[in-house]
Amino acid sequence: MKKLKKASIRVTDIAMQYWCEKQMELNYLFGPKFVAPEKVDAGKRLHEELEKEISVPIDLQPKNYADYLFKDFYKGYTSMSLLGKNKKAREISIYGMEDNFKLIGKIDEIDIRDGSAVIVENKTRESNKIPSEAQTLTNKIQIIIYRKLLNDILQNRFGYEKFNAVYSLTRMHLTAEFVTQLDALGVEKGMQSLNEVSKKFFDSIARMKDMDDEMYLKYINRNTGEVMKSVEIKYDENYARDVLAFTMKYWRGARQALPVPEKETWKCSFCKFRGNECKAWYNGAE
Ligand code: SF4
Repeated sequence: MKKLKKASIRVTDIAMQYWCEKQMELNYLFGPKFVAPEKVDAGKRLHEELEKEISVPIDLQPKNYADYLFKDFYKGYTSMSLLGKNKKAREISIYGMEDNFKLIGKIDEIDIRDGSAVIVENKTRESNKIPSEAQTLTNKIQIIIYRKLLNDILQNRFGYEKFNAVYSLTRMHLTAEFVTQLDALGVEKGMQSLNEVSKKFFDSIARMKDMDDEMYLKYINRNTGEVMKSVEIKYDENYARDVLAFTMKYWRGARQALPVPEKETWKCSFCKFRGNECKAWYNGAE
């Protein structure tokens, strides 16, 4: 964590460890792989359009980290409170702990289907090319860890009190400018504190009692918006624990970042670190 200058682990980092742990680490140390800005924009735009379909617009401009957290909790709480009515909530942040490390992520979508809450992860793709098994695995790990973090809240292993202690909420303060924005938005005075809004956020998640063990990965063509493939994933808590036990060894510093195994060296041809920062499978030939 010190080496990568990180205070928390993103669920997407854990997922990337299943693509190539070494690459995930090098991305932090030397900057991410180059992605054409228009590709990022198209994927982001689609996510924003999906979010707009159901979410209540919340126009708040955070000025510091406390403001940012407030906005995140307030948005999450508002969406989760409307889940029963809208049958859908989008872009819900999720917080948890593992091995004394803070874990954070953002769930794309929670749907209500036949009375149960179902997690859906939307992945945008450049073309109609079906994702490989290796790509699907990283997405599967991501959704499984989201579910594990939700379970930790539902089963009282993590919640408002722990969050409050770990993030030292009492030491954080909203800026005066942000409070003015909250007044303009009509947020009740009693709700205008990080303590109160985080409590409401965790409570709104904990109320979601019936969670389906089936979860869905949806692959969407980012240019056309068409759903190309939907993959069903069944939640298995033991598997989630195994994933966390394996990945946390790296974060604890109990082992170095692993390069891909020999049978997956095909991934190296797509990696900008090959032959430069990573010589794990590099024989000097181009
Ligand atoms: S070159 Fe291969 S092993 Fe090295 S970081 Fe890239 S994908 Fe991983």
